[in-house]
Amino acid sequence: MFSSIRTKLTLWYVAVLALVVVAFSALTFVVLGNALNRDIDERLVEMSRNFGVAIMAEQEDESAPISERAIAEAVNEMRFRDYQFSISSGGGRTIASTSGNVIDPKCLIGDAAFRDCEIGDESFRVYESPLANGPREYRLFAFHSLHELTELKRRMGGVFLLGVPLTLLLAGVGGYFLARKSLAPVVEIGRQASQIGAGNLNERITIKNKHDELGDLAEVFNDLLGRLDASFEQQRRFMADASHELRTPLAIVRGEAEVALSKDDRSPAEYRESLNILHDESKRLTKIVEDLFTLARADAGQFKAAFAPVYLDEIVADAVRSMRVLADQRKINIEISSTTELPFNGDESLLRRLFLNLLDNAVKYSRPDGKVTVECLATDAQLQIIVSDNGIGIPPDEQDHIFDRFYRVDKSRSRADETATSGAGLGLSIARWIVEIHAGKVVLVSSTKDGSVFSVNFLR
Ligand code: ADP
Repeated sequence: MFSSIRTKLTLWYVAVLALVVVAFSALTFVVLGNALNRDIDERLVEMSRNFGVAIMAEQEDESAPISERAIAEAVNEMRFRDYQFSISSGGGRTIASTSGNVIDPKCLIGDAAFRDCEIGDESFRVYESPLANGPREYRLFAFHSLHELTELKRRMGGVFLLGVPLTLLLAGVGGYFLARKSLAPVVEIGRQASQIGAGNLNERITIKNKHDELGDLAEVFNDLLGRLDASFEQQRRFMADASHELRTPLAIVRGEAEVALSKDDRSPAEYRESLNILHDESKRLTKIVEDLFTLARADAGQFKAAFAPVYLDEIVADAVRSMRVLADQRKINIEISSTTELPFNGDESLLRRLFLNLLDNAVKYSRPDGKVTVECLATDAQLQIIVSDNGIGIPPDEQDHIFDRFYRVDKSRSRADETATSGAGLGLSIARWIVEIHAGKVVLVSSTKDGSVFSVNFLR
């Protein structure tokens, strides 16, 4: 129960409120108590002053020393409900008192002008001041009962003791319901999210208020679901396309093996031909599986490119040399028309694979006696490798898709033209991935019926 955010929020809220309310109550109690005490003290001083004036008024001769008669007269006149006076001679003898009570002598001894003291069961605030005129000195004690103040403080304490827990209880209940209400959309988002799985990733979370923070949260969830859905879909398509691509060469291998095994008396030439077909198809299968493996590792982010200083022009020249055998077989002239030093920081084997894929396509889709040209160019900011062929070209409406996985412009065309190196429509996707991890760009610059031009650009 205490692990729920609702309860935690409520507890925090009540704890903070308790701190504030208790501090406020204590402060009020102290400040108000002090103010009332000060008020009593001020009034005691004032009353004592009035008492002095009353004594002087009772004196026949104002310049004569204070007489005990004048004091007794003043005591008779100064009768108040809340104040009492007592006058003692310098020797400590009480001369007159407005109170019928016997005043504890302890009350009359002390250093401070103000003091608290008990008389009977009652507490008093006492103010002592000198009363002098001439050589005789008396001490005037003014008393104010603290009964009312104590009562007021007691009641105030009672109000706080009852009011503070009650306020906290009400705030706690209110806070809990408020927290419950504010978190209700989160609970709803959780409920809906728990019903979404791999089977229904196309579903989305619906929320009433789209413009508050929880609306934003649901939006973030929905975006995440959208990305997951797209990636699941991509994986599904990848699996389906991969199995489709593997099915054909596997069927050929199986069919050819069955044919070879169906008769016992086959000539060595026939066996050789069958083995050649099996060899070609297994090479093709190996290439597809390797490409799939590369892309799967790339998708999983597991591919660690080994970056090192290289010369792109040398890698390109190497790739051209490797392709020359295949090009010669098809009577295609392959050459580097212009070259310059292209120092770069990259993964040599990946870069070789990139250029081989581009050159493989250029040769594969060239007409016999065609020409493939490679240019290595450098500007201040960029390194550029251009691969041009005068082959069959790519129709305009297909050009946007050639970098997609498993995309082949004309399935029948590429199958008929199959070579051991021909892939499953993965060559350009791998090329693009390699260029991207080197922070570069590969584009189809142009493609017509007379040929295609691909360009790879890297930042220096
Ligand atoms: P594949 O491995 O089948 O060649 P790619 O991904 O390398 O697949 O290429 C995708 C498709 O783009 C090819 O099937 C082909 O139709 C087209 N293509 C790529 N390069 C060329 C080119 N130089 N000339 C004509 N068509 C090309």
